[in-house]
Amino acid sequence: MPKRNLRIVKRVRNVPVIGVCEQCNTQFFGDPTQGNAQSAIQGQFNAHKCEKKVAETSARA
Ligand SMILES: [Zn+2]
Repeated sequence: MPKRNLRIVKRVRNVPVIGVCEQCNTQFFGDPTQGNAQSAIQGQFNAHKCEKKVAETSARA
């Protein structure tokens, strides 16, 4: 299983506010006013499960 990676895509005053999972593109949001945005995003990232992408062409009822 490939190792998933958290990428910070947006920062406010050097504080990460939006992170995205490079594996499944799920986004995680931190609150820059709380002072723990980094750990909040990291915590959401650690807790989420990557979902396999469903191919656009696959038949769905
Ligand atoms: Zn993921």
